[in-house]
Amino acid sequence: MTDHLLIRGARIIDGTGAPCFHSDLRVQDGRIAEIKPDLPAGDAEVIDADGRYLAPGFIDAHCHDDLICLREPSRVEKAMQGVTTLVVGNCSFSLYPKTSDSADSLRQHFSSLLGAIDTSEIFDSFAGYRNALHARGIALNMVSLVGHAALRLSVLGYDRRAATAEERARMQALLARQLRDGAAGLSLGLVYPPSAYADQAELLALAQTTSAHGKIVAAHIRSYEDGLGASIDEFLSILKSAQAPGLLSHLQVAGRPNWGAMPKALEQLEAARLAGVDVSFDMYPYLAGSSYILQLLPPEALEGGLPALLTRLDDPATRENLRRAVEEVAKSKVAMIGWGNVRISGTSNPALKPLEGKDMHAAAAQAGITPFDLMVRLIREDGGQTTIVLFQLNTDDLRAACTHPLHMVGSDGLPRPGTKPHPRAYGTFPRVAGRLRREAWFTLEDAVRRMTSVAAERFGLRDHGVIAAGKSADLVLFDDAIDDKATFDTPTLLPTGVHHVWVAGQAIVEDGKSTGRLPGRVLGRQTAS
Ligand SMILES: [Zn+2]
Repeated sequence: MTDHLLIRGARIIDGTGAPCFHSDLRVQDGRIAEIKPDLPAGDAEVIDADGRYLAPGFIDAHCHDDLICLREPSRVEKAMQGVTTLVVGNCSFSLYPKTSDSADSLRQHFSSLLGAIDTSEIFDSFAGYRNALHARGIALNMVSLVGHAALRLSVLGYDRRAATAEERARMQALLARQLRDGAAGLSLGLVYPPSAYADQAELLALAQTTSAHGKIVAAHIRSYEDGLGASIDEFLSILKSAQAPGLLSHLQVAGRPNWGAMPKALEQLEAARLAGVDVSFDMYPYLAGSSYILQLLPPEALEGGLPALLTRLDDPATRENLRRAVEEVAKSKVAMIGWGNVRISGTSNPALKPLEGKDMHAAAAQAGITPFDLMVRLIREDGGQTTIVLFQLNTDDLRAACTHPLHMVGSDGLPRPGTKPHPRAYGTFPRVAGRLRREAWFTLEDAVRRMTSVAAERFGLRDHGVIAAGKSADLVLFDDAIDDKATFDTPTLLPTGVHHVWVAGQAIVEDGKSTGRLPGRVLGRQTAS
């Protein structure tokens, strides 16, 4: 292995959106040293690009790889997409900070999204998490947001009430410590308890702390359905009051009755920017979303946490109330999209594995019970750890979002080995660079920009996201036929067309195969205050 590399004859797409050009590129000591045609090879290892595209390594601006990075450091399916940096800690879910009181509830909270998790896999702080990753090694770089849930569980547990001034101050102090040590910002998950239980004073206080550190607030907003407009306004007003830069997570319009609302949502964001709010958004390129099964319940159902929910489900009257809230309230997810559009994607209990890949309607019919009863059975028998895929979007809205100048690409994948996950975890980046670019959603230069410099700028990664002399040599070499292969029925097929991927000048993919090298680092700017 040499730390001196010459990539010869590449079509370089630099990540800024500028037109592609033909050149050689030299890497030395992990950095891009020179970009010129006809560079001499000297003692460098030479890779003949043969006219393939060379781009900055892709940045997954929104994912949930927090836990899997500890368990599978080489992150093969991400590396094989050309991804070199992962942004984790989204939608209020992070593996830190925990206190002695919150350890168990934090473990439970995280496992509801990503499956069973050990107490040793949650951490006191950002620094503890980073040290654990560095000790094990990691192939890709990582950026981590602080999940609001971890802060709230540390101070209020699963209480459904406003925080007192003293409790807000404790959450702010806990958040400040993580930001100071290098966490990239705060993530809210306003449909997910306990983040959903916060009042405006709490959200504003935490956004102010984040802003004071010059970092960003990301939000899974309160509704992507009929409440989308109001939920965008809620987030924008927090950003404005706190003067915090913001990232709206996976912008979409969910549920047929709401389809067509994307242009209006984009106008809200544009208007806010003109009024001085620094906001942009991420979105994955698919017509389905994915979440945990508990999201089908109204947030108040989880008051007190999962054990309290299970107790409540034992009471026939409460159970019937919940059934109505899930199925009959006109604006509930199930009422809007139907059980047939809810597919079971991941379970922890081996006895439930045969249900993975089936929709709730069909699975319930097979079991001779109602879909609601199946949902309750899943919550009970799987300890709340079932994930679902929701077919709820339409192409026009998706295309309007994914081609908008404020958009960046985030997979939102939920990695759970052995399940039938949403294919976005395996195909997002090749899908953008390949299929959608060929369908003329954007030029290749623009596609690459959405997967690189836009995210780097948002997360303050000054060393990443563009090809320029002096930048970290995080690079991907791919061909024009790059293609995603994962589908909803065969969701874990790896993409094709990605040949080489480097992180800090070291190959993590060589000739289309993972090398197992672990050159990644947790990226994070330490701050004062
Ligand atoms: Zn989310």
